[in-house]
Parts: sequence; structure tokens; C-alpha cells
Amino acid sequence: MRLRCVECGATFEPLLIYRCSACGGILETDGSDDVAPFAFGEGRTPLLRASRIEATLSGFSGEIWLKDETRNPSGSFKDRLISAALGRAIAMGVRGVVCASSGNAGAATAAYAARAGMPAIIVVPAHTPIGKVTQISAHGAILLLVEGHYSRSYDLARALAEEHGFANLTTTFINPYAVAGLTQVGTEIFAQLGNAAPSHVLIPTGSGPLVKGVWQGLADAGATTRLVAVQAAGCAPIVRAFEAGAAQVTAWGMPDTIASGISDPLIGYERDGTYTLRLVRESGGLALAVSDDALRAAMQNLARLEGVYAEPTGASPIAALPRLLADGHLPAGSRVVCLITGHGFKDGRAYQEMPAHTHRVEDPGDTAAVARLCEAAMDGQNLTVRF
Ligand SMILES: [Zn+2]
Repeated sequence: MRLRCVECGATFEPLLIYRCSACGGILETDGSDDVAPFAFGEGRTPLLRASRIEATLSGFSGEIWLKDETRNPSGSFKDRLISAALGRAIAMGVRGVVCASSGNAGAATAAYAARAGMPAIIVVPAHTPIGKVTQISAHGAILLLVEGHYSRSYDLARALAEEHGFANLTTTFINPYAVAGLTQVGTEIFAQLGNAAPSHVLIPTGSGPLVKGVWQGLADAGATTRLVAVQAAGCAPIVRAFEAGAAQVTAWGMPDTIASGISDPLIGYERDGTYTLRLVRESGGLALAVSDDALRAAMQNLARLEGVYAEPTGASPIAALPRLLADGHLPAGSRVVCLITGHGFKDGRAYQEMPAHTHRVEDPGDTAAVARLCEAAMDGQNLTVRF
């Protein structure tokens, strides 16, 4: 196995290098990795038919499936990347690992490093949701909170990796071994659909390694599938370039969205976004942005119609469905896979503001009154949102 530049094709020994030394391009692994991942039960997540969500989409006649990545050990798909990259880092004999994260990759790194007995430094934006911050600190990692957007954390992690000789497990396109760990998402989907390709895969997208993983896995299986990169309207550099017909992605200014997991302005690594855009276009797919209100509605419907508790980023593919349908992208017979990337435990604030059947019982002895209250609540009250 060697590393190969996706832009100029130069190849390199499989060492801890993060960019092509000839052109600065993204590196990918060429051939399957001969180093075992640091396995901790990640992957093989369920693919669930979402028939109750299908019923809310009037005019849709096809299938919606949920690839439930919340089931990974630390509650997000990031475990797949960290498992692969940590296995490689251990094989190389590094002293420690560092990871810049919007929260989930940091939690994955902290958990996996704890289990491996490996020192870990995690760098996150100071405004990272408290559930993710708590999870990272629980595992004993050194946690650095940095004011400002994610790209500032990214820069610091890169400098610290060099300073300490630690492996950089940041889960943009920087670590090719990590990204290779996502190919399995595509191959699992293909196998779980009975060795058949979905028509579309909807992917929450920051810089886009998950787009690459799904694309690679399906390509390896000989499948053609339209990939839909979903971004938040408050941080949508790839969507902006897609809609403008541009070849290059440019950095976003200041992100403003409840979807912390895809709140990545790509400042200084715009090429990651450009590569993702290229893969989306090659697949015949598209990039589209969803509002925070659409994210809240999607979270509510996922939780109340399908029993799946997702953070805002994890619900973004569901938020994209009504627009895709309205714009004619989901013809009859479409088989759509939505990647539900992260657990609601990590960032459940939006749920606290939703209408709910929650009541304070003043007198538990008055069973009749409580029973009347429950009857009234059950009586035709549907708290799901009409898309
Ligand atoms: Zn190159």
C-alpha cells in the first residue's frame, strides 16, 4: 500500500505525511491497508427503512433508508476514521495523537486513545456543544478550547502535531488512513440493500471525507449512485460553489448554524471542499443547503416517527428531502439512503425547545386527573411536523 496524490498522482511511502510534497494536494491510500485498525466495535451499523417518514413526503413513491451511524461506540461515524488512523499511528510507534474537531471526532479520538493507553490532545472551538465537550473530557484527553470558528482549531492541531511528533487524527482530508476507514460505509450500504445500489445517498458535509468514503465504497462495488452533499445554510461553501457552477470552493466567512458537526468554513484547506465538489459532480449528484428551521423539523420527525435520536447535523439529510422532492430530484422508484451521522445525546438542545407531552404532576394520588390529562394528550395530538 502506498499514498497517492488525488491531484498530480505522485506516490509516497505510507508514512505520517498529510499533503503531497509536489503539489500540496490531498493524499489517498492506494490499495487496501495492511495495518489493522484499532477495533472497538465500530461499523456494521443498521440500515433502517423509514416508512413513516416516507408517508410525510406527499408525492413521493420510493424508499427512504436510514444508515444509523449513531450506533458507533462514541455515537458518531467518526469512530470509523479514528479506528483506522489510530491503528496506523500505533503501528508507526507515535507517542501520542492530536485531533482538531467540532466535537465528534474529538470524542472518538478521546475514547479510542483512552482504550489504547495513548496520550491525546483534542482541539475544539470554545462554543462546541456541552455534550461533546463533556464526552471528550470524560475520557481524560487534554482538551483545548479555542475561540472562533473550526479552522482556527485545525491550524493549532496541525502545529501541535509537528511540535510533539504526534499523529494528526483530524478528520478532514488531512489523514489519508482515516479517510480510507470510511470506504466501508459505501460497501455496507451496497451489501445491506441486497447487493444493489441506492439511487441517492444524502451525506452531511463539512469538508467531505464521508462523501469520498461513500463514493469509493460504492465505486468498488461497481455501483453508480447520485451523492447529495448536505450543508447548513449558515455554512455552505460547497453548496455555494455548486450553485454558481464554479470549479473551486472558496472559504466561508463566519458560520452561523445549530449544526456544529458540519460548521466548517474550510479556511486554509479550501482544496478539501473542491475535491468533494468534484466527487459530487462526478456522481451526477448535487449539493444543497438546509435552514436551521428545517433541521429542527427533521430532528423532530426522526425522533417521533422513526425513534432515532440525532443531533442537528445527523438529521440534515432528512431536512433535505422535501427540497429534493420539490425540485424533481426524487422520481418514482428512488431508493434514498440518509446518513444519520451523530447521536442526539451529543447535542440535544434543540429538542428542549420543541412542543412536547411533558407535564408536572402536582398530586400523584389523583390518578383520575392524571389519566384524564394523558387521554387528552393522546387524543389526536400529533407532535410531528408536516414537511
Ligand atoms: Zn500532488
